[in-house]
Amino acid sequence: ADLDTLDLIVLAAILFGTLAYFTKGKYWGVVKDPYASSFAAANGMKAGKTRNILEKLEESGKNCIIFYGSQTGTAEDYASRLAKEGKSRFGLETMVADLEDYDYDNLDAIPSDKVVMFVLATYGEGEPTDNAVDFYEFITGDSPSFSSGNEPALGNLNYVAFGLGNNTYEHYNSMVRNVNKALEALGAHRIGEAGEGDDGAGTMEEDFLAWKDPMWTALAEKMGLEEREAVYEPIFGIVDKETLTPDAPEVYLGEPNKMHLDGTPKGPFNAHNPYIAPIQTSYELFNVKDRNCLHMEVDISGSNLTYQTGDHIAVWPTNAGEEVDRFLDIFGLTEKRHNVISVKALEPTAKVPFPTPTTFDAIVRYHMEICAPVSRQFIATLAAFAPDEESKAEMTKLGSDKDYFHSKVNAHYLNIARLLAIVGKGQKWTNVPFSALIEGVTKLQPRYYSISSSSLEQPKLISITAVVESQNLPGRGDPFRGVSTNYLLALKEKQNGDPNPSPFGLSYHITGPRNRYDGIHVPVHVRHSNFKLPSDPTKPVIMVGPGTGVAPFRGFIRERKKMVENGQTVGKTILFFGCRKSTEDFMYEKEWKEAKKVLGDNFEIVLAFSREGPKKVYVQHRLKEYAKEVNALLEKKAYFYVCGDAANMAREVNTVLAQIISTERGIPETKAEEVVKQMRASNQYQEDVW
Ligand code: FAD
Repeated sequence: ADLDTLDLIVLAAILFGTLAYFTKGKYWGVVKDPYASSFAAANGMKAGKTRNILEKLEESGKNCIIFYGSQTGTAEDYASRLAKEGKSRFGLETMVADLEDYDYDNLDAIPSDKVVMFVLATYGEGEPTDNAVDFYEFITGDSPSFSSGNEPALGNLNYVAFGLGNNTYEHYNSMVRNVNKALEALGAHRIGEAGEGDDGAGTMEEDFLAWKDPMWTALAEKMGLEEREAVYEPIFGIVDKETLTPDAPEVYLGEPNKMHLDGTPKGPFNAHNPYIAPIQTSYELFNVKDRNCLHMEVDISGSNLTYQTGDHIAVWPTNAGEEVDRFLDIFGLTEKRHNVISVKALEPTAKVPFPTPTTFDAIVRYHMEICAPVSRQFIATLAAFAPDEESKAEMTKLGSDKDYFHSKVNAHYLNIARLLAIVGKGQKWTNVPFSALIEGVTKLQPRYYSISSSSLEQPKLISITAVVESQNLPGRGDPFRGVSTNYLLALKEKQNGDPNPSPFGLSYHITGPRNRYDGIHVPVHVRHSNFKLPSDPTKPVIMVGPGTGVAPFRGFIRERKKMVENGQTVGKTILFFGCRKSTEDFMYEKEWKEAKKVLGDNFEIVLAFSREGPKKVYVQHRLKEYAKEVNALLEKKAYFYVCGDAANMAREVNTVLAQIISTERGIPETKAEEVVKQMRASNQYQEDVW
């Protein structure tokens, strides 16, 4: 039959609508740069992306989604590793998803032949990571409302769960525990155990590896998956852009996004978009030659950034030139380092973790965590690309034998390039596809610092107090040097007159991409925290902050000093500070004297020098000596703060405080521990530890 005009119009409209539906606006003039779109997502501009997970699974033909709640990148990394393994070993059609990119009200509609994985880090005091806040509130809320109204709501949902936590915190792995409980209560079916990794014990990676094998077995059984010989399939395609030179305006040389590339960065500045902040001053806080601790003030007045005393500032580091060279060299990329390439995701759901076109040099220098601990799983992957049989056998052994791996790799803090140079006896590893490196090496992460200034005193100037990471390790030629703190050290040296600083022989592209960090700038953003002085300034405060743990307390004390100068009344302010020697690393000594002049008897500093007497004295010992006063202040509703080393100090301080309460109030220790827990729950006890 002939089609008349109306039919044609209707047909065309249907066709157009269908096309629009299936392409999800991909061709309708929206952002193509995957990095830019993740930036857009973070800013609430969805750029035509669907937030409907069911739709996403269907349109991309996936049957396994791995959601992550990640703060420092580890959970995200584990999620992509699960995705890769699911695909290569079991042929699962996997995709990784940022929890904040989707809605959750149709989790009930995900059919039972699919599986949803949750990789969830717990942050700080049992909190969800920034990107998981909405999901956490939804799923653990009183009655999360789902689209279909099934009973039980999640009766169709098959899920897998792994948590990343730190046992030195009170609420160990509470994210995965609470989410697991909530999912079970909603009728969802967990496959395998809900795994828990412990950063506090330093076993995160091994906990993850130990958890995932039985999980895969259980999952394979439940979903009827056949295991196959794992084959490496690249997720990213690398395209040479021979027509472009590195100085072409569209080539990213380390700029984090398009605005920075165009030289017109603007706010909001956040974890996707740093502010290139001028450094106003910087100096050393220690009086010794072999250890460095930096005080640095960065000026945020040219931005719309704000901060509150007690917040954190994130520094975006650059890798040291020597490590960049080592990495490029071992993979045979030295000659090609300035070639322009573009990187494309071969998988519709994969995201290229940096903007392109760019160069190998820029990727390695600004976007890859090339010095980080090597994952045992990645070693096993690289075995397939070894330069000879002997190296291959060694890589396979390292990948499968946990103890051997620890003694050979972790004990010496080897990074990937150093390890491969040893294993391959100096041969180049030119068979390794660059895609495998993008997949296997995590994204270079910003480092957080507890802001050590007061926003009342200097709202547009943020200070950082950072000890420079340097460790001598047996069996390793040169000391291990931290990424971010040695970069900050170089910035400090430059600011203090050295035009080409190379602290400990490490040099940096200190002027940044296209020299835009010249004039001494550092890329930063601010993260708001709950670590805050009491809103009533007359309340007493007790602060325990040895070493750089004193950072936020410098801010607190300066804030109270400023309040008094403004005519306000403030409560008793006690600081327990500790370091090695009064003559070496007693930082801010002069400032405490200044504070004392203004705050008078209301300010007291209690000192613990661990290397001055016959016996080591730490802050927790001094705290105990002050039992009476501490308890009396707590009874007056003093706020109690701990900052610094999470592994030992913070835990011991917690124990000592319970002992003090027990002795002074004549109650059993178990009861006193309850009191401390209660204090934490009501924010009277706050921790800022790392
Ligand atoms: P990195 O290179 O990140 O190394 C850090 C550690 O990781 C090493 O010591 C080592 O244990 C391990 N590591 C790294 N590479 C390897 C490897 N290849 N093999 C084995 N182990 C390895 N620090 C401060 O000085 N002052 C502060 O005020 C402060 N506040 C903080 C607040 C928060 C909320 C957090 C989370 C952290 C804070 N930190 C602070 C710590 C800071 O963020 C950094 O972790 C620290 O400065 C070290 O950074 P880096 O890049 O120099 O070291």
